[in-house]
Amino acid sequence: MKTVFFDIDTQLDFLFPAGALYVPGAETIIDNIARLNRQAAELGALVISTMDAHTENDPEFKTWPPHCVAGTLGQQKPAATLLDKRIIMPSSACAKDFSGTQQILLEKQTFDCFTNANLGRILAAAQADRYVVYGVVTEICVKLAAFGLLKTGKRVELVTDAVRSLSDAASDAMTREFTAQGGVLTTSDAVFGA
Ligand SMILES: [Zn+2]
Repeated sequence: MKTVFFDIDTQLDFLFPAGALYVPGAETIIDNIARLNRQAAELGALVISTMDAHTENDPEFKTWPPHCVAGTLGQQKPAATLLDKRIIMPSSACAKDFSGTQQILLEKQTFDCFTNANLGRILAAAQADRYVVYGVVTEICVKLAAFGLLKTGKRVELVTDAVRSLSDAASDAMTREFTAQGGVLTTSDAVFGA
């Protein structure tokens, strides 16, 4: 089974208490995220790491505190979650080659990673039978990625010990809706045992 891994928005501004938009407890999932990314690469599977890359006066900052401004420290990912062979894929349509890449840093300016105009051709080339999704936050950006991937008709798994949320109630609602639509809940240990 060919798997593509989706590591959603695991950026310093979200993961650490000093970050601009800290997700409570998010630092506790970094080890699992790093292990998932590394093990995926060992199996030769592609990791797509979505990344907010905002401008300083991004429209999103009308509703959220400024975070993940492109070029700032907070926009970066923890070193442990990065793979050696990686490229940055901008959100506007381009012909950037990703063959031989272990990790695509997929930039976006909104919640939904499918707003990156290159994601369609990446998924078409990857030919996955299964998607594994994790990161932050469960009820917003992880949700949009997971539900967008469910629309492909392929198997989609959510790694419950590698996600964090801002609201437990919203996170519970997301997982209920996800499983009702055929999504599968898993753990970071079980992902590679399947
Ligand atoms: Zn954002």
